[in-house]
Amino acid sequence: MLKLRLKEWINSFLLLELLKGMGVTGRYFLKTKITVQYPEEQAPKSPRYRGLHALRRYPNGEERCIACKLCEVVCPALAITIDSERREDGTRRTKRYDIDLFKCIYCGFCEEACPVDSIVETRVTEFHFEERGQQLMTKDKLIAIGDRYEKMIAADKAADSAYR
Ligand code: SF4
Ligand code: SF4
Repeated sequence: MLKLRLKEWINSFLLLELLKGMGVTGRYFLKTKITVQYPEEQAPKSPRYRGLHALRRYPNGEERCIACKLCEVVCPALAITIDSERREDGTRRTKRYDIDLFKCIYCGFCEEACPVDSIVETRVTEFHFEERGQQLMTKDKLIAIGDRYEKMIAADKAADSAYR
């Protein structure tokens, strides 16, 4: 016991632990850095990343969603609420499309179920809410996100096709 204490005392006196730590720092000092300076630098994300939701349009501006409600049915968290209506031209469209992001578990089932690639989960992760109710993503908000990130979404969908 006394021998062990003496050894500990000598190690501490000679700062051996500190020197060992400095040795580790020195070994990694000149190696390629594996950390990124977030938020200026971003870590790469898969095209299948499941982040913020968006509703997409066709290139002619027509909304893709046909109010089939498959996404609403498949959602395990019951986060999607859809009301539909028949338009004058006979097509069916949503008049209400809400996703409650506090209920959503980002499983991606809604995207998988959609027959027209309308609802998608983007690679966008930088979003937050400051007031009660802001987590409810309405149709207008989702379409605005889709419009804003359509280029990225289309590229991700094209890259993702290799896995399907
Ligand atoms: S990602 Fe999953 S939990 Fe979230 S809305 Fe889509 S189906 Fe529901
Ligand atoms: S987003 Fe897709 S799955 Fe959901 S109602 Fe619209 S068309 Fe159907």
